[in-house]
Amino acid sequence: MKIYNTLSKKVEEFIPIDKNEVKMYTCGPTVYSYAHIGNLRTYIFEDMLEKTLNLLGYKVKRVMNITDVGHIVSDADDGEDKMMLASKREGKTANEIAEFYTEAFMKDLDELNIKKPEIIEKATNHIDDYIEMIQELLRKEYAYISNGNVYFDISKAPNYYELSGRTEDNNIIGAREDVEEDIYKRNPADFALWMTNSKFSNQEQKWNSPFGVGYPGWHIECSCMAMKYLGEKIDIHCGGVDNIFPHHTNEIAQSEAYTGSKWCNYWIHGEYLNDKTGKMSKSKGDFLTIELLKSKGYNPLAYRFMCLQSHYRNQLVFSYESLDIAQNAYVKLKNRIIKIKNNVSNTQNIELNKRYIDEFKNALSDDLNTSNALTVLYNCIKDEEISDLEKLVLIKEFDKVLSLSLLEEKNIELTDDEKIKIEQLLEERNNAKKEKNYELADKIRNDLNEMGIIIKDTREGTIYEVKQ
Ligand code: AMP
Ligand code: ZN
Repeated sequence: MKIYNTLSKKVEEFIPIDKNEVKMYTCGPTVYSYAHIGNLRTYIFEDMLEKTLNLLGYKVKRVMNITDVGHIVSDADDGEDKMMLASKREGKTANEIAEFYTEAFMKDLDELNIKKPEIIEKATNHIDDYIEMIQELLRKEYAYISNGNVYFDISKAPNYYELSGRTEDNNIIGAREDVEEDIYKRNPADFALWMTNSKFSNQEQKWNSPFGVGYPGWHIECSCMAMKYLGEKIDIHCGGVDNIFPHHTNEIAQSEAYTGSKWCNYWIHGEYLNDKTGKMSKSKGDFLTIELLKSKGYNPLAYRFMCLQSHYRNQLVFSYESLDIAQNAYVKLKNRIIKIKNNVSNTQNIELNKRYIDEFKNALSDDLNTSNALTVLYNCIKDEEISDLEKLVLIKEFDKVLSLSLLEEKNIELTDDEKIKIEQLLEERNNAKKEKNYELADKIRNDLNEMGIIIKDTREGTIYEVKQ
């Protein structure tokens, strides 16, 4: 498999440390509000990556954290803890907030057919692990205590800017312009590992530690959880591109300082979902959730389908018009598959058509080209040289990765465009009947019949159903 590595800025051949098991870590949600569909785009991409590795024969051990402490509004160390913000907003404890939004997140994963990672763990369950790592970083003098807080000294990390490709200057100007300078840090980009001198007098989440009563910084949780469950070296670390700096940069600095050697081989990042004002983000307040899309009549899997049509490394602009187009295409695709399914009576197991399965694997192995993988699916469906049974077996195999529930439906569904067209034809037929133009009325009935629509004239008016 070839995949783009943010660390080398190149598409590289994927070679796992242990060919029997790929170790994959993916940053999880900060559970202070619902996940928006931008966050979920990143989780869809990570799901596709894991399932592609499975298709290629790899076993994958994947870990995801649930951030329920320590994520500060600015992503650096300025501003308020996001969990505290939510506590105030909703009048609940941080724990109640975390539980509520974690459950909502799990539901989103189900709605989008995203497989839950083998290990999903809460940040607050690993405080002892953070303390142990921080003590070691202090011992090795990568960390220092100032004003009661423990900071990581980035000047001790020689490759600190390698992942982001930033220079020290644009780090300070670019990332920190909205951040109040912390005068207790040795370098402006140093980051907090543990805070005891909280700026917030009402800080609810705090723990005892050798450095004083306090709470962990955000970045430490991912390094510790990755090491605890996957060992000191991992193959893949994922997230959205906004995680590259400072979050993943800081994870590398502290992990490599702790182990003394390279930590993760492949850094793979998904691009943004944008709305018309730019990056969709929770802090903007006005963001879209799966529940909202459902309440407007959209199938969450039409959104997954829309994401798969674009490449994970390209930005995707969301609009309802493009979701409409995706939903129509998705319904049409499923209808074609239902027809194939209905034609197959013999469901015996046959061997997979090698050409198509190879083409599908090649598309996904090419830096996860999901839209080409969909093209392979379409080509297979319209291929007249292969039997419907062969097609069905292939579709089932493709759907293990695509996860679009392609074979689930039994009934043909109409797209919105088709419904509008049918309504128009029915109105034309009614008008024709009123004008006693029975020839035209019959022609319309026949046209509809050819479209697979059966109409019945009842006392309440004309009704129609789809020929299954
Ligand atoms: P958070 O819950 O804010 O920690 O973010 C969860 C995941 O969503 C992270 O991997 C982010 O990088 C990613 N993310 C945040 N905003 C977007 C966006 N607009 N489009 C795609 N991914 C995003
Ligand atoms: Zn993380």
